Amino acid sequence: MTILYNKKSVEDLEVNGKRVFVRCDLNVPIENGQVANDRRIKASVPTIEYLYQRGGIVILASHLGRPKGERKPEMSLRPVAARLTEILGRPVHFAEDCIGEATEQQVAALKPREIILLENLRFHKEEEKNDPEFSKKLARLADVYVNDAFGTAHRAHASTEGITHHLSPCAAGFLIDKELKYLGNALAQPERPLLAILGGAKVGSKIGVITQLMKQVDTLVIGGGMAYTFLKVQGIGIGDSLFDSESAETARKILADAEQSKVKLVLPVDCVVADKFDNAANREVVDIDKIPVGWMGMDIGPRTIERIKEEVAQARTIVWNGPVGVFEMDNFAIGTRAVADAVAASKGVTVLGGGETAQAAEDFGVDGRMTHVSTGGGASLEFMEGRVLPGIAALDDK
Ligand code: AMP
Repeated sequence: MTILYNKKSVEDLEVNGKRVFVRCDLNVPIENGQVANDRRIKASVPTIEYLYQRGGIVILASHLGRPKGERKPEMSLRPVAARLTEILGRPVHFAEDCIGEATEQQVAALKPREIILLENLRFHKEEEKNDPEFSKKLARLADVYVNDAFGTAHRAHASTEGITHHLSPCAAGFLIDKELKYLGNALAQPERPLLAILGGAKVGSKIGVITQLMKQVDTLVIGGGMAYTFLKVQGIGIGDSLFDSESAETARKILADAEQSKVKLVLPVDCVVADKFDNAANREVVDIDKIPVGWMGMDIGPRTIERIKEEVAQARTIVWNGPVGVFEMDNFAIGTRAVADAVAASKGVTVLGGGETAQAAEDFGVDGRMTHVSTGGGASLEFMEGRVLPGIAALDDK
């Protein structure tokens, strides 16, 4: 079941004159040394600004990319410090390393209402190993701990879990607070009907969520590439569409369970097929049981769109995770765009999760019309699965 956390928030902290270690999720795409998308930076601002206004010495830490314990210049957080300076309209200092004597001295010289960003935590392999010595070194920089990195809250790393053993108090930032509130309430205390729309390519990573959602939702729509595994196990020919043989057995069980339960399970009734995985491919709309051999399902068809719109119109709470087609290609983005528009027009509570879904909503210009767009991919899935998020569990209870 969904865990409802009741953790201390930054608003419960006394930070005036204190050094506050803030674990943010500033893992943004960098192109040619510039920040290519600043959504995550902007999402971190409310906590940073609050701590600044309250007279804290604000020490920001994050990972960027997967440098696997090596110093990789293209994964430096320096461009993020520059972008954050622009967004905040105040200087953000930069430390060349997240630990060590030079950084300790740099931080010790800061006065209240100064902000510093530490270099990429994952330049040290100890970060992901949750190494106790490394955690201690990070903790030496600060007095108080705030976690606002929802995107990594499902991982017990030094900066999300280990460090909490050495600093007190430990609280959640505004972003984590918001994520817990919207994701938590939408699933644990939803206004009904509760509709979940799941899409994307990988069934394997979402099987846990589907199983969990089957216990909570009124209606579950499965679209995108993962729908074809569910169709194939029902004996429908899916041509060259995605098929995840490892998840086939579970898919079969989910379908059988759905028969026994009150949950309405909606699968595509038609789709847009292509003769290759390419925007310029030949394409056709076909009924779901008429996918030609050698062709692949790339988007949901118009009848399925209408079906989903009906469900969206009735729902009072909607949770959407995963595009219902290959939305990165214009010719196969129609279904995802229609779902995005319909969800945006809903008067109910609308919660989006997953990087691609957030991207799709942003591309289609409807992200601002959702109740909440989660910044976490894996973390929001694990939360929806009802699993403990170590980065949240480690924070102080209220
Ligand atoms: P995931 O990471 O599992 O949420 O998958 C997201 C990706 O699923 C997106 O990049 C989409 O392009 C892809 N996707 C959605 N529908 C399909 C489909 N019918 N066939 C192949 N890929 C798809």
